[in-house]
Amino acid sequence: SLTLGIVGLPNVGKSTLFNALTRNDVLAANYPFATIEPNVGVVELPDARLTRLAEIFGSERILPATVSFVDIAGIVKGASEGEGMGNQFLANIREADAICQVVRVFSDDDVVHVDGRVDPLSDIEVIETELILADMQTLDKAIPRLEKEAKKNKDQAEVLKAAQGAQAILNEGKTLFAAKDTFDLSSVRELHLLTAKPFLYVFNSDEGVLTDDARKQELRDAVAPADCVFLDAKVESELLELDEEDAQELLDSIGQDEPGLRQLARAGFNTLGLQTYLTAGPKESRAWTIRQGDTAPKAAGVIHTDFEKGFIKAEIVSFADLDENGSMTAAKAAGKVRMEGKEYVMHDGDVVEFRFNV
Ligand code: GDP
Repeated sequence: SLTLGIVGLPNVGKSTLFNALTRNDVLAANYPFATIEPNVGVVELPDARLTRLAEIFGSERILPATVSFVDIAGIVKGASEGEGMGNQFLANIREADAICQVVRVFSDDDVVHVDGRVDPLSDIEVIETELILADMQTLDKAIPRLEKEAKKNKDQAEVLKAAQGAQAILNEGKTLFAAKDTFDLSSVRELHLLTAKPFLYVFNSDEGVLTDDARKQELRDAVAPADCVFLDAKVESELLELDEEDAQELLDSIGQDEPGLRQLARAGFNTLGLQTYLTAGPKESRAWTIRQGDTAPKAAGVIHTDFEKGFIKAEIVSFADLDENGSMTAAKAAGKVRMEGKEYVMHDGDVVEFRFNV
């Protein structure tokens, strides 16, 4: 499954956040035979729609989608110079599908900042710079090779052009992801460039920041088009110790509607380019993970490869229509249940039953 790699400078709260993520790990509870890796935290994607589906269908259990975070340890500054731990750091990032940087915004005189001051945008730049330098090295090696191949092969000529375009962006000190609206990221996919991965920022904040909408907007604007989440990693770990009532009280006291980990799960899921569709029956109501833009047969394949091969059609009702009508029978009577074929592109929250040949 796709993963977000958690990175950040020392002392910004990575371990605190990651520990909260792993203590919230759902693998152990829902998938007893899953292998649990120490550096991976798998969290539920909160989805209130499943509760409603379980009510409509009388489901015995609910299975939400999950999001996986990988803790990427290693030295950040100087990583692109290829020193031991730095190399490992870049190699681990290469394996992740998106980059989730924890950034310190909280002030606390007891926690030393590596650069001696709390400056979130400069911290972001430190990591960006290493990734940009690593990508420039990759391109410096790839471009001469592509130049040779381009003479014989038209496809490679296209890749060469894209690689040169990427180089121009990096030379301006920008990540490729930041240029995604004007640069086609898929054109350099085969080069596995680090800054072409989607970025997500976790601003590890204190109460002062969490309740300061202007400051939050400023940071949000600074990292766009990347998404970001504001949370207090220390509070998140405390929340896990509390019962629901006390947890709500603590959240209220820092002006938050819901735990930051839930926001992080949602933002992580979106950043990975994923979406869900839903199935429901007496046994279970379940969310299935697909890529945004997937067609119905692809979606069926997530349940079982045979479903994709033998796909005939999908019976689909949107969650909103089903919710409003209160039952499948009523939704059908209201003309809200559709039969969709092979070309249908799935929508988030489609409630589906597949028809297939075996
Ligand atoms: P890492 O080096 O990035 O993994 O950072 P840690 O998670 O080890 O945190 C470094 C120090 O900062 C620890 O003493 C944490 O207790 C503290 N810390 C982490 N998150 C917060 C936070 O949100 N607020 C405050 N005040 N301290 C924090």
